[in-house]
Amino acid sequence: MKSWTCIEKCGACCKFDLQRRDNILNVLSNDDIKLIESMTGKDGWCKNLDKKNMKCLIYSDRPHFCRVDVFSKKFKEYLKKGDVFLIDCCKQHISSIYGKRSKMMSQYKMEITK
Ligand code: SF4
Ligand code: SF4
Repeated sequence: MKSWTCIEKCGACCKFDLQRRDNILNVLSNDDIKLIESMTGKDGWCKNLDKKNMKCLIYSDRPHFCRVDVFSKKFKEYLKKGDVFLIDCCKQHISSIYGKRSKMMSQYKMEITK
């Protein structure tokens, strides 16, 4: 069975496009949305992301919606499907940022089967 994992130097979920992520809007509070708006740069990427290294600059203080172990429990799909749901989310993010056939996608697929 494949287990969810996050891979280094990805950061694909650190670009916000709430209009395209309608399932996430249902589980965010108004304060969360305001915080996301304040964190979003003009290019859509989170201002807290070191884009050269694709690394979160506030990792230990990142908001709750950036903490997969906490935030995932808010999704019915996670409660039903567990890691399969999380893996699908990562694949969607990676596909939209790097492409379906990108090296990042291959690396991700390899990591989840380890
Ligand atoms: S999309 Fe997935 S693998 Fe990439 S940074 Fe986000 S949680 Fe990690
Ligand atoms: S706070 Fe960190 S983990 Fe959250 S979106 Fe920004 S860079 Fe990514």
